[in-house]
Amino acid sequence: MTYDTDNIFAKILRGEIPCDKVYEDEWVLAFNDIAPQAPVHVLVIPKGAYASMDDFTANASDAEIVGLYRAVGQIARDLGLVEAGYRTINNTGRDSHQEVPHLHVHILAGRPLGPMLAR
Ligand code: 5GP
Repeated sequence: MTYDTDNIFAKILRGEIPCDKVYEDEWVLAFNDIAPQAPVHVLVIPKGAYASMDDFTANASDAEIVGLYRAVGQIARDLGLVEAGYRTINNTGRDSHQEVPHLHVHILAGRPLGPMLAR
């Protein structure tokens, strides 16, 4: 998948579209999902231009990969999610229904989240 520089998260990273920012560091930006599916629904995106988890794990540097996952854990701790628990989701490609072609990790929490997949 080639990277579309006009995707909505690229525009958010460039500051062309606003977001409700939760966290930012050298490697990632995290913000609240515009259509939350749980009381807590945060999207964590790398600052680099990666279309998907496939692109990221094939082409990102070790530092970028560590940076993303350290940030996911840090955000969950900062938001007080660890005791009750949280779910991380990444959708990659057609069958997963990935909508936005910039890698994002969903953090969902704040209520019992039910089964992992709809049947
Ligand atoms: P996907 O299906 O690609 O894994 O998830 C895309 C997510 O991005 C969806 O949960 C959707 O609500 C969210 N989203 C789409 N457009 C925007 C936007 O402009 N701002 C924010 N904050 N979230 C968005």
